[in-house]
Amino acid sequence: MEVTIKTKGNYDFIDITAQVAEAVEASNINSGVAVVFVVGSTAALTTMEYESGVLADLTQVLEKLAPTDYDWQHHLKWGDSNGAAHIKAALIGPDLSIPIENGQLSLGTWQQIVLIDFDEKPRQRKVIIKILSD
Ligand code: ZN
Repeated sequence: MEVTIKTKGNYDFIDITAQVAEAVEASNINSGVAVVFVVGSTAALTTMEYESGVLADLTQVLEKLAPTDYDWQHHLKWGDSNGAAHIKAALIGPDLSIPIENGQLSLGTWQQIVLIDFDEKPRQRKVIIKILSD
């Protein structure tokens, strides 16, 4: 299945755990894996404790690694200004594989599935969710 998520860009963190859990429930699978993938090269998926402190801390770390305000080669090549977004998305990655046991995602209590949009403007993101049985 696919879900479309509206984002604001610029480090927009969106908890999509409920959407993935719904896909697992709809599949009626007892044991398997949920593969989650975001389409696009300036957004990423990870798991984290979804609370404002962690979001601020991860933003700070990524901004040190790949500052938004920098002369990225990508800007020269395409006239784009989202070079940092591409780097951050590549560092975090576009996909997750989450085991399913007893019909449930095997997530920790403080572990949410989070879509991060690094691009510089609002986007509509397509997230593909595949539920595979053992
Ligand atoms: Zn670009």
